[in-house]
Amino acid sequence: MTNVAVKTQDGPSTTLAPEAIAGLRSRLRGTLCLPGEPGYDVARTIWNAMIDRRPALIVRAAGAADVIQAVNLAREHGLLLAVRGGGHNIAGNAVCDGGLMLDLSPMKSVRVDPGARVAWVEPGVTLGEFDKECQTFGLATPVGINSTTGLAGLALGGGFGWLSGKYGLTVDNLKSADVVTANGQLVRSNAQSNPDLFWAIRGGGGNFGVVTSFELGLHPVGPEVLAGLVVHPFTDAKAVLEGYRQLVAEAPDELTCWAVMRKAPPLPFLPPAVHGTDILVLAMCYAGDMEQGKKAAAPLRALGRPIADVVGPHPFAGWQTAFDPLLTPGARNYWKSHDFVELKDEFLALLRSAMQDLPTPDCEIFIGHLGRAVNRVPVEATAYPHRDVNFVMNVHTRWTDPQDDQKCIAWARKLFDRSAPYATGGVYVNFMPEDETQRVQGGAYGPNFARLAKLKAKYDPQNLFRLNQNIAPQR
Ligand SMILES: Cc1cc2nc3c(=O)[nH]c(=O)nc-3n(C[C@H](O)[C@H](O)[C@H](O)COP(=O)(O)OP(=O)(O)OC[C@H]3O[C@@H](n4cnc5c(N)ncnc54)[C@H](O)[C@@H]3O)c2cc1C
Repeated sequence: MTNVAVKTQDGPSTTLAPEAIAGLRSRLRGTLCLPGEPGYDVARTIWNAMIDRRPALIVRAAGAADVIQAVNLAREHGLLLAVRGGGHNIAGNAVCDGGLMLDLSPMKSVRVDPGARVAWVEPGVTLGEFDKECQTFGLATPVGINSTTGLAGLALGGGFGWLSGKYGLTVDNLKSADVVTANGQLVRSNAQSNPDLFWAIRGGGGNFGVVTSFELGLHPVGPEVLAGLVVHPFTDAKAVLEGYRQLVAEAPDELTCWAVMRKAPPLPFLPPAVHGTDILVLAMCYAGDMEQGKKAAAPLRALGRPIADVVGPHPFAGWQTAFDPLLTPGARNYWKSHDFVELKDEFLALLRSAMQDLPTPDCEIFIGHLGRAVNRVPVEATAYPHRDVNFVMNVHTRWTDPQDDQKCIAWARKLFDRSAPYATGGVYVNFMPEDETQRVQGGAYGPNFARLAKLKAKYDPQNLFRLNQNIAPQR
């Protein structure tokens, strides 16, 4: 075996001798992958195909001990370190060129205590895996809407989905976390132990250490819920969006409804003539009693002249996978996102006009519905600060041909720029692409940034965990 050149945090490479590589390999319970070795390409391939990076070495961790090994190696040699959970983040910071990648995806344990309504979750678990385990006991907690997303990255940035109106963010349900900090120590963080670290990881992303276990509170949900899609022709978008705006403002906590604008995919319940035409989809879920759900959803379902209405009783774990076919890995993706308190007429008009020049058939604009339980948590209670937001827009451009890069990115930026006057200025950190570092301070963290920067100096003074939406340490 020869020396391995590994990029350092400061830029140039350092050399790891064969003995250092062999020593690391022997200490791991999981595996060490060098380029060309089994597991290397699987580990470095992430959801967004725009990101194609080749780490010098990858530790595929089996447990906290392997995480400690990787963190210590990175710190002692000053190596550039990337941390991967589910590999879904749009910015692609889970993987680096030439550095050390710590891949947590093999850490798959979910242990549910149905009596205590708590789950202990390792950081390689996807949302679908988490839901399957918890739904066996009729339990769930708010997570996202695409089942192949990693729970770790989602939870560290905030985390919202169909249950958030009722039960808040994923971080609002976090009871404790085990964290390997930059000094290689495994610490427990919760309201009693290291409460400042516990505060910081509830929204502060991967800045403060590597979480090796999440303890999440669970709630009775399903196993069947009222959920589904109502599909409208886009020609009716003005009236339907105005009705949507009014009805969700009055919606009970249990009812969450997202508006999705895109070209109709060839769904079996849509007439073939509709496929490929512009549609507005109201996607809804009622997290509670089925009959009450039917009553609550009725006004939304009565809007406009829908092409299809497939709202009905669905297994919750199945509904959580409903959008998976449109969000498969391997496509090129670029996102722009804004937070909103309200959806002004002028903004709705911008959405309608942006649909007129959709750059590819897979692009979409979605409006996520938040508020309610999320907004009853004080801004200073967690690092996630956006407690006045009722809607999140994500301009999701998606394509396969690299020749479309420029036109797709330009379309997203144009809508983003034009809608800025109607937005809060805040942004959900997990929806930020890699070119938005200037939004981290004011946009992602706003009033909580100064405290986060001080805690960064306490827990990671050398900024070892810098491949993320980075918070620079401030003493
Ligand atoms: C198709 C799609 C749908 C989505 N839908 C939603 C949604 O409905 N709601 C929502 O809230 N979000 C949603 N997201 C955003 C999602 O929350 C982020 O992409 C999130 O970062 C994914 O986590 P991951 O572990 O898969 O990502 P990764 O790319 O593996 O990780 C992201 C970053 O988190 C850090 N990290 C990951 N694991 C750890 C760990 N254990 N310890 C420390 N740091 C860690 C690292 O800095 C890493 O770069 C969606 C994303 C996609 C691609």
